[in-house]
Amino acid sequence: MTHMHPRRLVLASDNAGKLAELQALLEPLQIEVLPQRLLGVVGAVEPHSTFLENALAKARHAAQASGLPALADDSGLCCVALNGSPGVRSARFAGDGAGDAQNNAQLVARLAGIEDRRAHYVCLLVAMRSPQDPEPIVAEGRWFGRIVTEPRGTNGFGYDPYFWVDELGATAAELAPQQKNSLSHRAQAMRHLSSTLAARWSWGPSPSRERGG
Ligand code: IMP
Repeated sequence: MTHMHPRRLVLASDNAGKLAELQALLEPLQIEVLPQRLLGVVGAVEPHSTFLENALAKARHAAQASGLPALADDSGLCCVALNGSPGVRSARFAGDGAGDAQNNAQLVARLAGIEDRRAHYVCLLVAMRSPQDPEPIVAEGRWFGRIVTEPRGTNGFGYDPYFWVDELGATAAELAPQQKNSLSHRAQAMRHLSSTLAARWSWGPSPSRERGG
C-alpha cells in the first residue's frame, strides 16, 4: 500500500471492553488507535454530571498529554425509573472501585419491586485534533432495552447480562461480539462519528481499501 498521511488517535479510555469495541469499529477507517495507557497518559478525572462534559474533559486531557488527536468515549446506563441513574456513575454505581458484579447487584437491588424496567445505554464520543480545538466532533448513540432480574449470557461487559433487547429476544451478553458491535449505543455513535470524520477531517475510508488493496 502506498503511504498516506498517518491517521493516529489516542484513545482516552482504560476500559478493556470499550477499547476492544472501539478498535474494531475504527478498523475500517484505517485509523491507528493508541490506547492512552501505552503513551503513559493517566486517565482524567470525570467530575461532571453529564456524559458530554466528561467525554470533552477526557479527550482534551488525552490530547494535551499525548500531543495527538484524541478520541474519548463516555458511556453508561440510564434507567427510566431511577431518573437516569446510574448514568455517569455507571462504572462505580456500587461505590468507587466496584466491579461489574457489584454494580450489577446494585442495579438489581435498586430496581427490586419496580415495574418500569426500561433502560438505555448512552454513548458520547468526542474527537478533537488538539486541546485547543474549538470544534470538537461530538457524536452520540442510544440503545434501548430493559433490565431483567436474572443474568443471561457471558459476552460483552458491564451491565450486558441484565440488558434485555426486546427486538432480539436476548440480552446484550448473549449477542456475538460482531452483532453487539453493529447495534450498540457505541456502534451508533461511531457511525455518526465516522461520517463526520470523513466530512470534516477528510478521514474517510481509504480508496485503496475499498478496492480491496
Ligand atoms: P465510563 O468508562 O466512565 O464511560 O463508564 C462506562 C460504564 O458504563 C462501564 O463501566 C459500564 O458499567 C457501563 N457501560 C457502558 N457501555 C456499556 C456496554 O456496552 N455494556 C455494558 N455496560 C456498559
